[in-house]
Amino acid sequence: KKTILLNNRPQGEPTVSNFEFVTEDNTLQISEGEILLETTYVSVDPYLRGRMSDAKSYVPPFQLNKPIQSGVIAKVVASKNKKFAEGDYVSGMLDWSTQQISKGVGLNKVDASKAPLSAYLGVLGMTGLTAFLGLQEIGKPKAGETIVISGAAGAVGSVVGQIAKILGLHVIGIAGTDEKIDMLKNEFGFDAGINYNTSEDINAELKELAPNGVDIYFDNVGGPISDAVLFNINRFARMIICGAISVYNKTELPTGLSVQPFLVKNSALMQGFIVSNYAEKFPEAIQQLATWLKEGKLTYTETIVEGFDNIPKAFIDLFEGKNKGKMIVKI
Ligand code: NDP
Repeated sequence: KKTILLNNRPQGEPTVSNFEFVTEDNTLQISEGEILLETTYVSVDPYLRGRMSDAKSYVPPFQLNKPIQSGVIAKVVASKNKKFAEGDYVSGMLDWSTQQISKGVGLNKVDASKAPLSAYLGVLGMTGLTAFLGLQEIGKPKAGETIVISGAAGAVGSVVGQIAKILGLHVIGIAGTDEKIDMLKNEFGFDAGINYNTSEDINAELKELAPNGVDIYFDNVGGPISDAVLFNINRFARMIICGAISVYNKTELPTGLSVQPFLVKNSALMQGFIVSNYAEKFPEAIQQLATWLKEGKLTYTETIVEGFDNIPKAFIDLFEGKNKGKMIVKI
């Protein structure tokens, strides 16, 4: 059994030395009510960076010398719990470990015959829920409106754009490479895209791509990209502040544009979004996402990294934009 612990807290960019691998030889024995799980897929997510620091947040920080946890798909290899049978697959927040014992609390069975198992970490998991609920609950989209999405080629962003297209919006994505922009337009049906690494002026490009202004901004990155979008918001615009990956590794909070005048002038709404606040809407949202998937209206892409030992690197690579769609490690 191999497990990955938090070795020390990152200062700035996370590195592999923040993690420690431990190997134990003893075979795990389950007691009454328990199941033995073998890890199949591990989700790596930008928000884990926040949990590696000890700053107060909406989820408690990881503890030093304790296992890192994230969304995991695992196979039940032995069971003394009536709710789970050997051979079942489950998803839940679990340790970065090749094997572990669980009482089954907080685990959901997933059906490998309905969708590929990895999809339950992405479009049919937290990613899809974040995209769907953030857009619906704060964005309140209406057909004909214009939406801009930052981090558009990532797990959440690529799903937001497709849902917005299904709902009849004009969709503009911002991402870090030309290849990603091509993917947004050709595979996910976005109307236009901006490569923020090569754009000389995102604000000016947006003025051309969205001559009628921006009604909804789905923000995954924060920082100067978001400042540029603010110059283009319309009256009664809604801004979903879902993430701020450009800021997560900063040791000092950046100073920048002061947003209040834009909000006042445009009667605009800017609201922070945390997917777990909407738990009562999860079943309905998953149902809708699964239907769109089945109908072929929604599709997804994944970057699958192979091997347990590569989990930390896959996580670090998120901050370099190495992924297209959902970053997942296959064990
Ligand atoms: P992604 O799949 O989008 O992966 C991260 C992407 O961010 C990279 O591929 C990279 O793409 C981009 N990126 C990295 N650094 C920067 C930077 N400095 N500036 C701009 N873009 C950058 O991750 P997720 O879809 O899982 O998450 C997207 C966002 O949503 C994150 O901020 C995350 O924290 C947040 N989130 C929030 C949730 C909530 O409940 N609030 C739930 C889930 C996610 P590129 O090549 O384009 O730079």
